[in-house]
Amino acid sequence: MEALDGNAIGGMLYHVFGGEMTMAQAECGCCGARGPLAECEVYLGGPGVVVRCRVCYEIVMVFVEVREMICVDLGGLSELELPAWR
Ligand SMILES: [Zn+2]
Repeated sequence: MEALDGNAIGGMLYHVFGGEMTMAQAECGCCGARGPLAECEVYLGGPGVVVRCRVCYEIVMVFVEVREMICVDLGGLSELELPAWR
């Protein structure tokens, strides 16, 4: 399965978080790598969307649609720094 980058889920992230998120800074809970969500590796082929760290490839976020709801697992992140909204 070929990985995409975080820009591939920019629209979904906007829907979930209510704002532009591709430049939000994410910190991997496994290796501590830090960078914009746009640089994470994204896999769309499974039953949900899997986002992996681009350094250690650990899963940092999972989005699954269940009965018209989106379930979000951010357990692989140690930090997610959001841009301030005005
Ligand atoms: Zn990592």
